[in-house]
Amino acid sequence: MNFEPVIGLEVHVQLKTKSKLFCPCPATFGEEGNRNTCPVCLGWPGSLPVVNEEALRLAIRAGLALQCQVAERLKFDRKNYFYPDLPKAYQISQYDMPVNGRGYVDVETKIANGTGSLSESGATTSEQFVTRRIGITRAHLEEDAGKLIHEGIADGSLVDYNRGGVPLLEIVSEPDIRSPQEAYDYLKALKTILQYAEVSDCDMEKGSLRCDANVSVRPVGQEKFGTKVEIKNLNSFKMVERAIQYEIERQTRALEDGESIVQETRLWDDPKGMTYSMRSKEDAHDYRYFPDPDLVPFTLARETVEAIRKTLPELPLDRAKRFMADYGLPEYDAYTLVEDKRISEYFEDVVKAGVAAKTSSNWILTELLAVLNTKNLAIESSPVPPESFARLLRLIEDGTLSGKMAKDVLGMMFDTGKDAETIVKEKGLVQVSDTSLIEKAVEKAIAANPRAVEEFKAGKQKALGAIVGFVMKETQGKANPQLTNEILRRKLG
Ligand code: ADP
Ligand code: ZN
Ligand code: MG
Repeated sequence: MNFEPVIGLEVHVQLKTKSKLFCPCPATFGEEGNRNTCPVCLGWPGSLPVVNEEALRLAIRAGLALQCQVAERLKFDRKNYFYPDLPKAYQISQYDMPVNGRGYVDVETKIANGTGSLSESGATTSEQFVTRRIGITRAHLEEDAGKLIHEGIADGSLVDYNRGGVPLLEIVSEPDIRSPQEAYDYLKALKTILQYAEVSDCDMEKGSLRCDANVSVRPVGQEKFGTKVEIKNLNSFKMVERAIQYEIERQTRALEDGESIVQETRLWDDPKGMTYSMRSKEDAHDYRYFPDPDLVPFTLARETVEAIRKTLPELPLDRAKRFMADYGLPEYDAYTLVEDKRISEYFEDVVKAGVAAKTSSNWILTELLAVLNTKNLAIESSPVPPESFARLLRLIEDGTLSGKMAKDVLGMMFDTGKDAETIVKEKGLVQVSDTSLIEKAVEKAIAANPRAVEEFKAGKQKALGAIVGFVMKETQGKANPQLTNEILRRKLG
């Protein structure tokens, strides 16, 4: 029997507010333990929560960016459970009247059917993209819990309530995801959208994005879902992908062996590459949800929602479509550029400075990102701003620099902070396009490489590389590569 996986993700993102969800305590981290606390977030009897308007605004903004139906009326509920990081012994969340109802995320999934790499010559790649629409069930507001500290404490544990009460948006997906790869792509798309909407940093390392994965398998052709397992402790998108893969295999094996799946919460053990059982899964009724009497239900004016909608920026997929339509970029370039808002903005700035779109895209996605990566720099702190990068690219376009030379110049721009023109002048780096000079170097190269010449004449195209290399050495890398090739072929032809 063949089995297919069914996957739904629950993602928590921390909303970028100054203060907590129901009190004025700072929502920032790095403070000394328990400094950012007050009677409200410590759950003292008699204290009263007040909804943070900014958190509500960000939640609506996120909902709109995720194409959700924003609620007309909403309410907060108490989710009861006992745990030392939860001083009230209940978490204020939203049960049946969440701020955001149904929505969706369109995910562009790459289907590679060729090399798929971006070549410097700007050749279009042979990748294809398909759009998969993943439904959002709801996206509701809730407060975060505190943090237990076990490390370095011999006797017992410590608790830090600074994080307690910080606003979270829980985004619940429909069980629409069908593979680990698709889960990965969904998370990436979700993160990109939320970053564009400027509602959260979505930094998994800092805990401002957390993901639980629900996984079940069912026989192919069966409509009814199988019993699901929830996986926690997933600290990177790669871990989400690996844990789901493991869980699919484990459940499939169990069913094939005639066992049944127990509904439970499992934890991912990354070094071991496996999940293990943490507890049997509780159902909603175990939490004894009830409306928080301190926070009465309220109505959201449609004008408020529409006013927020007007402030939403262009979203990633719209931007990618515009890059294709306005600049004639291939899908691969457009989708890759918009994955990071700042990279897409950098690209547009370079194009606006007068460089051809495809040249800009190639150079940003390959050379610029590579240098930034080796220097461990984010694009917004690049010492080479878009205008300066554009001037470098224009030196290629007007024939002053070869691609190879431009790469070297880019490295020097990063190291010295000087602009391309200055470096070119200082180093005398102008590409040699003087035919007679190149001819001389080519003649010398032919004389010095008789074997390569022979091989080339015998039909081995590759042999040309050695001769070209010689010419480049002769001219300190300044010979115009195209001219060199032409002259060489003419002489050998
Ligand atoms: P619970 O009551 O256990 O929280 P929900 O119905 O609220 O379950 O769903 C939680 C998450 O699990 C959602 O993302 C949903 O898409 C997903 N899910 C629900 N049923 C299944 C299933 N049978 N297999 C995989 N995922 C599922
Ligand atoms: Zn507080
Ligand atoms: Mg649920």
